[in-house]
Amino acid sequence: MKQVAILGATGSIGASALDVVARHPQRYRASALTASSNVDALVALCQRFAPDLAVIAESALEPALREKIAAAGLATRVASGRDGLREAATQDSSDIVIAAIVGSAGLDSTLAAARAGKRLLLANKEAVVMAGALLFDALAAAGGELIPIDSEHNAIFQCLPNPRVDLARAGVRRVVLTASGGPFRGKGRAELATVTPDQACAHPNWRMGRKISVDSATLMNKGLEVIEAHWLFGASAAQIDVVVHPQSIVHSLVEYADGSVLAQLGNPDMRTALAHALAWPDRVESGVAPLDLLAIGQLNFEAPDRQTFRCLDLAYQALAAGGTAPTTLNAANEVAVAAFLEGTLPFLAISELIEATLDFLPAVPASDLEALVYADLTARREAQRIMQRSFC
Ligand code: NAD
Ligand code: MG
Repeated sequence: MKQVAILGATGSIGASALDVVARHPQRYRASALTASSNVDALVALCQRFAPDLAVIAESALEPALREKIAAAGLATRVASGRDGLREAATQDSSDIVIAAIVGSAGLDSTLAAARAGKRLLLANKEAVVMAGALLFDALAAAGGELIPIDSEHNAIFQCLPNPRVDLARAGVRRVVLTASGGPFRGKGRAELATVTPDQACAHPNWRMGRKISVDSATLMNKGLEVIEAHWLFGASAAQIDVVVHPQSIVHSLVEYADGSVLAQLGNPDMRTALAHALAWPDRVESGVAPLDLLAIGQLNFEAPDRQTFRCLDLAYQALAAGGTAPTTLNAANEVAVAAFLEGTLPFLAISELIEATLDFLPAVPASDLEALVYADLTARREAQRIMQRSFC
């Protein structure tokens, strides 16, 4: 029986993870569940899964959570805040930690799980974009392992001969990340000027949280994934390509020196990646419908529109600049997406704000967490300032 801590249990990835866990009661048990501020949703999950620990990130809500857990007659311990999230990420009883908090808010607990030597199922791509080197140092030092949940990286993981393979020795020429193109694929700048948050979040293939949905609409999601692929697989920027594939059936590909191209296919449902990563190297049932290629009929591929969707190139530039640049990119993106979702920043200004922030804050080397946290805070402050002055 494997004990599974789910950080971000009330989110979209959290729900998919719990669905897979619930299908295998002999194999997996939810040992810790965390949420940001939705006490009732967390209590409902605790009633269903009876974890050892429930954590609410917003500390002011701990008394309310404690009261409701007690009223439900549960033995689940309650904690809150950063310390609580760390406890959920590191508790001795857990074998596997699913890092599914959205944004830089997940960095601390993701790193804590790596330092604790857990099997880390990584969905929280922002953490690896910000601190990829530190994350892999921590995993190596503690003897932990990372299995990607992001569907593209999970696909590449499945198409490589082994997890931390040397790409050159394995004869890998390049990895190709597929992108759906998001809800605005094919649209020009004029049409994008007035799009709303709800339109941006109406993803054609995937049901996801609102932040990653906007990232998919701007192509920043693919940009973050390029940086994620660099850290996860040791691929250089030149070895990572992006191809738009509107059906989201081919989840990514690996091209080898002999001309072979291996791809992983499946229906667009995150439970496949979660079941794969939970059971690896075994395979278990995920609840995902079998792939019906005859019903799908066609698989199409096209080049991304890098002029209209500038965020993809901004991410490549940040990867090339190195140091604090990816952290700055991520922080500015989080500020921009939050403002867009609140209705205060137009869609097309998202990439403009990120570019202006990157221009204002040239990359500097960053070898420790302190430097990255400082870069994150600085970029947020500058992005806010530039936004007030130039975009609102
Ligand atoms: P979501 O918004 O649906 O869920 C986010 C979870 O994080 C929730 O449980 C929320 O309570 C928690 N959370 C939010 N802010 C927090 C904070 N400040 N402190 C602590 N907890 C906080 O998001 P999601 O779609 O499930 O995505 C989660 C992560 O997985 C993101 O990094 C995303 O990029 C990545 N991811 C998601 C998908 C997907 O299909 N949803 C696919 C690939 C990668
Ligand atoms: Mg993805």
